[in-house]
Amino acid sequence: MMFIDSHLHLDFDELSHDRAAVIARAQAAGIDRFLSIGIRVRDFARVLAVAEAHADVYCTVGTLPHHADEEHDVTADEIIAHTNHPKVVGIGEAGLDTFFGNASWEAQLAVFRAHIDAARATQLPLVIHSVRQDEAMAQMLREGTSKGAFPFVVHAFSGGPGLAETALSLGGYLGFGGLLTYPDNQVMREIAASAPADRILLETDSPSLAPAPDQDQRNEPIRLLEVAALLADLRKVSLAELGATSSANFHRLFRKVPATAA
Ligand SMILES: [Zn+2]
Repeated sequence: MMFIDSHLHLDFDELSHDRAAVIARAQAAGIDRFLSIGIRVRDFARVLAVAEAHADVYCTVGTLPHHADEEHDVTADEIIAHTNHPKVVGIGEAGLDTFFGNASWEAQLAVFRAHIDAARATQLPLVIHSVRQDEAMAQMLREGTSKGAFPFVVHAFSGGPGLAETALSLGGYLGFGGLLTYPDNQVMREIAASAPADRILLETDSPSLAPAPDQDQRNEPIRLLEVAALLADLRKVSLAELGATSSANFHRLFRKVPATAA
């Protein structure tokens, strides 16, 4: 069985002391690709170093909205310059978040626009972080796409049906992880159950968002299997089918990642 963790942070301190063991445990359980996500363009070297050190780890370059004030002047060209490296397969994570993040709204919009421009110019997928800003996010996606389409995934999808509809209609993918297991997230489970099979990705967001009831503990990519089991159940497909479908989706979106192990 084959699974891919499409969103995690292998460079974070919580995972750095036993990173090789964390990766090996996940690989032994059938997870054969890992996409390690950048959160600061100007601290990208540490993300890339982890990707370079492990054959099956790829990475993205971007500024999380939490850090939009620090990197308010980041440009599309600065982001694009990092994407020539064979291990850099996407842009982000970037987006809008006024719930967990407290960066100024102006900076968030400017930084997100730079990432959209970089994704459009490179046609590398944009990994989007969107929390409690459905209207503004839908507007940015429509505005960005009107200047030319770009591939994207809304990761850890936590929006309502309206944002899901907008994202899907613009060709986007939806990423699902540990949030799906939290008791309160019934709307999310309904969206995950009914989204088109060819638009869903699996992720853990490790070391964050461990599946219930371990919300406050360190998350690891091996726990992708718990999310996959729940999502397979919701969608009434076998675990093997969900693994095959979501992995095919990943490779269709992140085209720079080789289909066979490096
Ligand atoms: Zn993340």
